[in-house]
Amino acid sequence: MNLSMERTLTILKPDCVRKQLIGAVTDKIERAGFRIVAMKKTRLTKQTAGAFYAVHSERPFYGELVDFMSSGPCVPMILEKENAVADFRTLIGATDPAQADAGTIRQLFADSKGENIVHGSDSAENAAIEGAFFFAAEEVVRVD
Ligand code: UDP
Ligand code: MG
Repeated sequence: MNLSMERTLTILKPDCVRKQLIGAVTDKIERAGFRIVAMKKTRLTKQTAGAFYAVHSERPFYGELVDFMSSGPCVPMILEKENAVADFRTLIGATDPAQADAGTIRQLFADSKGENIVHGSDSAENAAIEGAFFFAAEEVVRVD
């Protein structure tokens, strides 16, 4: 892997899948220059959703977040690009779609601060932890 390459973890959340926006959101991601190096459709349980978002366990929205993230299938992906973590946060926009810049994925597709279409890692270190949460090493296949 090129030294300047970085990876981030995204999840197309249950609202994205329910709204049949997997293709539209994935198109935005690929057009922005991200390579998909791992991808699957799965469903979190309350327990696994709670573990994924454990950092937020003391926040008032934690219960709702766990219920939402376990409410249906989701599509986690590991993405690769130079500056992937920061560039992906720019592509998705602010947590609250009402605050998100025009043209960002959340501004275009999300309904609310809770149901906001996509997850994006907040650091390269967390991206590695979150990637390992969903994918075994042999499921992560780089594009040459
Ligand atoms: N969230 C929420 N209410 C809030 C803040 C966050 O429901 O006031 C949910 C939302 O789905 C968000 C997730 O919790 O994406 C994780 O919150 P974080 O602050 O890490 O936002 P993100 O990194 O996803 O932009
Ligand atoms: Mg976050």
